Amino acid sequence: MSSVSPKTGLPGLLEPEVESYVAHKIKNTKLRPPITTWRDLIGEIYWFHLILLTTVPTIGLIGAWYTPLRWETALFSVFYYFYTGLGITAGYHRLWAHRCYNATPFLKVVLALGGVGAVQGSIKWWSRGHRAHHRFTDTKLDPYDATQGFLYSHIGWLIVKPRLRPGTADVSDLSKDPIVRWQHRYYFLLLLTMGFVVPTVIPWLAWGDLRGGYVYAAILRLTFVHHSTFCVNSLAHWLGDSPYDDKHTPRNHLITAFATIGEGYHNFHHQFPMDYRNAIRWYQYDPTKWFIWVCKQLRLASHLKTFSDNEIRKGELTIQLKRLREQQDQLVWPRDGHDLPVVDWETYQKLSAERPLILISGLIHDVSTFIEEHPGGAPIVAKYIGKDATTAFFGGVYDHSNAAHNLLAMKRVGILHGGMPHGVDDKVIPPSQRLWVARYTELGSSSAYSDSEAGMPQ
Ligand SMILES: [Zn+2]
Ligand SMILES: [Zn+2]
Repeated sequence: MSSVSPKTGLPGLLEPEVESYVAHKIKNTKLRPPITTWRDLIGEIYWFHLILLTTVPTIGLIGAWYTPLRWETALFSVFYYFYTGLGITAGYHRLWAHRCYNATPFLKVVLALGGVGAVQGSIKWWSRGHRAHHRFTDTKLDPYDATQGFLYSHIGWLIVKPRLRPGTADVSDLSKDPIVRWQHRYYFLLLLTMGFVVPTVIPWLAWGDLRGGYVYAAILRLTFVHHSTFCVNSLAHWLGDSPYDDKHTPRNHLITAFATIGEGYHNFHHQFPMDYRNAIRWYQYDPTKWFIWVCKQLRLASHLKTFSDNEIRKGELTIQLKRLREQQDQLVWPRDGHDLPVVDWETYQKLSAERPLILISGLIHDVSTFIEEHPGGAPIVAKYIGKDATTAFFGGVYDHSNAAHNLLAMKRVGILHGGMPHGVDDKVIPPSQRLWVARYTELGSSSAYSDSEAGMPQ
């Protein structure tokens, strides 16, 4: 016989693993030593990343100071920014990391070359980190853990070695993709070609602007595309609102969408990562979604995945109800029947001789603070002191407004014994409480479920 768990009330054999995977992993993994001195820091830096991420913008800024910008080069730089940026957003991110759609080999090659031109690692390396980010969001196993600060999630994680390796993520599907393997294998050669040579040579051959091509289309464009992607890890986890889930840091914001070629609806994305869209409304900015949709029309992409509208709206409603509940909790509500004393008719008579009490729907109300304020005048209220005013209140004399019903409920002081007939809930519940945001723990338990079974769809 196994013993019964005090935590779950279940036999010990069924005791669930209470320690989370993240906590377990952190406890059982040797962390890199803390960085306390400058000497420690020198050994803990990814020097290649640091040099790349500092020299590229420096050369770009100095170069721009001394190099006139021709309009052809400016246009081409913007085009190349979008091409390499889409290589990341439509390729690395939505196609490979999340498998939001299928692409033909031609489109895959176009995106793999665009992505390598953005100089952010190979598809395989990038997707592994990104899958860990989704799986372990906001924990120490998240490679760009936003809880460690804006700067860390933006660029710090690329420069200083993490104290803990990112959590595990499966990329075996990507290892089978020949285009991913090819890109991984020739990564540095492709990086030099697509990141620097191609954007320099095209303006040189087409309109004779070698230097402008290098400074603007290669170097400065690369700086922009780097920080555009970095914003998905920093800005998109920091700025905006959380209409789908407020447990974690991802946020939705138009500014982030503009900065990241449409990856700005990150709260939606973390909830529905396999959806090919980041923005689901027509007025939201998501050029990556538009690009994938156009590719579908051109038969270059297929099987575009979308989450069902029903599930998306359920997510929205959950957060809306939560916010409504917070508003509801800030208001003062009438005492319910369980908190009120029950008195008999004689006691009611005796008490109403001392203060103005009125019986309505079996509930006794103290109207002393209200009688002079009554819009219909005090005498009509006074007439019902010590009496049953149910019929008069519910339309017999005047059909009272919702506000009047709500206010009346606030005046409750007692229940008349035997005075509340069964089945008149609609008279006892004030309008403001008929649609009530209730936590599941506050719902009537088993009876509510058994009653509702009758209404189950057949
Ligand atoms: Zn994220
Ligand atoms: Zn993602």
